[in-house]
Formats: sequence, structure tokens, C-alpha cells
Amino acid sequence: MNKVAVLGATGSIGASTLDVIARHPERFRASVLSAHSNVTALAELCGRFRPELAVIADPALEGELARKLAAAGVHCEVASGHDALTAAASGALCDTVVAAIVGAAGLASTLAAAQAGKRLLLANKESIVLGGPLLLQALRAGGGVLIPVDSEHNAIFQCLPGGRPDLAKSGVRRLVLTASGGPFRGRTRADLAAVTPDQACKHPKWSMGRKISVDSATLMNKGLEVIEAHHLFGAPADAIDVLVHPQSLVHSLVEYVDGSVLAQLGNPDMRTAIAHALAWPERVEAGVPPLNLAASGALQFEAPDLDTFRCLALAFQALRAGGDAPAILNAANEVAVEAFLAGTLPFLAIAEVVEAVLTELPSQTVVDVESLVARDGEARGAARRLLKRAC
Ligand code: NAD
Ligand code: MG
Repeated sequence: MNKVAVLGATGSIGASTLDVIARHPERFRASVLSAHSNVTALAELCGRFRPELAVIADPALEGELARKLAAAGVHCEVASGHDALTAAASGALCDTVVAAIVGAAGLASTLAAAQAGKRLLLANKESIVLGGPLLLQALRAGGGVLIPVDSEHNAIFQCLPGGRPDLAKSGVRRLVLTASGGPFRGRTRADLAAVTPDQACKHPKWSMGRKISVDSATLMNKGLEVIEAHHLFGAPADAIDVLVHPQSLVHSLVEYVDGSVLAQLGNPDMRTAIAHALAWPERVEAGVPPLNLAASGALQFEAPDLDTFRCLALAFQALRAGGDAPAILNAANEVAVEAFLAGTLPFLAIAEVVEAVLTELPSQTVVDVESLVARDGEARGAARRLLKRAC
């Protein structure tokens, strides 16, 4: 029995993970569930999955969670706060940690799981963008394994030889990340000037949380994924390409020096990547309907429009600058996306805020977690000052 901690259980990835777990009660048990502040949703999940521990990140809500669980006759330990999250990620109640918290808030628990040698299923891409080298160090020290859940990286993982291969020695020429293009594919900058959060969150192929949905609309999601691929697979920026593929059936490709290109295909449903990561190196049924290529029609591919979707170009720029530039990019983006979702920043200004913060805070070498978290805070401060000036 594999005991799984689902951190971010009330989110979109959390729901898909619990759906796969529920299909295989003989293999997986959800032993730890966490949420930020949605006590009702977390209590309901505890009623269904009967974990040993429930963690609510907001300490003010611990009493309410305990009361709801007691009233429902659910007996499990209750804890709160970010220290409880890191303790749960590294503690004895789980063998596997699904890192499905959104944003930099997931860094500490992801690092703790890596350091403790857990089997780490990484969905929380912001934590590897922010702390890439530190996370890899923690993984080496802990001796555990990281299996990517982000669909593109899971696809690449499936198309590479086993382990974490040396790409050059394995004959890999290029990693090609596919992108759906988001809800605004084909639009011009003028078209995008007045788009609303609801329009940005209406993704044509994937159903996801609001932050990643906005990132998909700006193509920052793909930018974060380029940086994620660099760290996960040891690929230099020049060996990573992005290809827009609106049908979202080809999840990414690996090109080898002999001209072979391997791709992983499937219906756009995160349960495929999650089931692969949970069961790897075995396979389990995921609840995803079989791919019917005869019925899917033509598959299209095109180059991304880097002039309209500036965020992707900025992510490549941050990756090439190195050091903590990706952390600065990520922090500025999180603040800008929050403001866009709150209706106080226009869509196109997300890239402007990110670019201005990258210019204001030139890249520094990453030393340790403390200095990285301080730089993350500095970048958030710079982004907030820009937002105030813009209002
Ligand atoms: P979501 O917004 O639906 O869920 C986020 C979860 O994190 C919730 O359970 C929430 O309670 C928790 N959370 C939020 N802020 C927190 C905080 N400060 N402290 C502790 N917990 C907090 O997001 P999602 O779409 O499930 O995405 C989760 C992560 O997975 C993101 O990093 C995203 O980029 C990545 N990802 C998502 C998808 C997808 O299809 N949704 C695909 C690939 C990667
Ligand atoms: Mg992805």
C-alpha cells in the first residue's frame, strides 16, 4: 500500500489525483490531505478518503476544521500552518507526496518532501522555477525520485531513456514542449487590450485552477514550463523549443540526433499524467477514455507568437540570465496575475510588470533558501509598487 500525501487536495490537480487514487484502493491510500482555506471542501474530502492527517494552511481555521470533522464522525489528526505542511510532507504518514499547491507557497513543502527522500510527484511548477538548483540538491541528498506531473514534462519523461539521463550522451537533440496556445491563440495585441479574467480562464482544452489558466492565456505557463524542463532534464535553453498545438493531443516531443522524434499522445486529461506518476514504472487505469485519432481530425502545429505573448519571451530571457532571474520572473508574475484576476490590472500589463521587475532586479546567484525567499519578497514588493503607480 502506497501512502500518498495530496498537498493542495481541494484544487484541480488534487481532485484528479484523488479520482485516480479512488480507482485503486488496493494500491494507494490518501493518508494526508491539505488545503489553504476551504474548510468545507477539505472536510468533505476527509469524509470520503479518511486520511490520517488533515492540514489547513490558514491557522485561524484549524478549530473550524476540527469541529466539522467531529460533527461528521471523521477521526483524523488535524494540524494547521505552513510548518505543519512541511512536517506532513516529510513525515512518516506518507511515502509519496503530490505537490499540487499553486504558486511559490508550495516551495517549502516540496523541498521538505525531496529532502526526506519521498517519491515526489511534482505539479507545483512554480517551486522548481523558483528553487530549481536547491530542489535538485535536496533530491540528491534525500535519495528519492521526482516524477513530473505537468503533462508536458510527464510526456518528455516517458519519451526519454530511464532515470535522469545525460541528454547529450543519450543522443537527445531537442526537447519540444507543446502548448495549446490558450484561449487567445491567433489574437493581436489590440484584441487583448480589454479581455476579462473570465475570458482568460476559459481554456479551450484543459480545466484548471484560475492562476494557471491565466498563465496559459499569457503563455507564461509555457515559459515556466521551459524553465521547469531545463531543471528537470538538464537541458540548456537552446535545446528547448515550444510548438503550439491547439488540439492538445500530443503532450510533448523528444528529438534525437538520428532524426527520430518520440512523442507521447493522449486525451487532454491530467489523470493520465497523474496515474503514470503514481504507478511508475508500472501502469494503472486512469479513467481517461481511449484516444481516437480517426475521430480527432487534423492535428495542427505552429510557432508561438512571441511578440503578442511577451511572457514566453521573458521566461526564455530569465532562463538565459540564470541565477535567481527565474525566481524574480515567477514572483512578479504571481503578483501581476493576482491583480489581473482582481480586476485591477489589464491583461497586457502582466508582461509589462514582469519585464519591469526583471529590469529593476538584475539576476543574482542562488545561495540558499533564505536568500531566495528574500529575493522572492523583494520582487513581489517591486511588482506591488509598480501596480500602485499604475492605478
Ligand atoms: P488550484 O488553484 O485548483 O488548487 C490549488 C491548491 O493549492 C488548492 O488546494 C489550495 O487550497 C492550495 N493552496 C493555494 N494557496 C495555498 C497556500 N498559500 N498554502 C497552502 N495551500 C495553498 O490549482 P491547480 O490548477 O490544481 O494547480 C496546482 C499546481 O499544479 C499549480 O502549480 C499548477 O501550475 C500545476 N499544474 C496544474 C495543472 C492543471 O491541469 N490544473 C496542470 C499542470 C500543472
Ligand atoms: Mg503543463
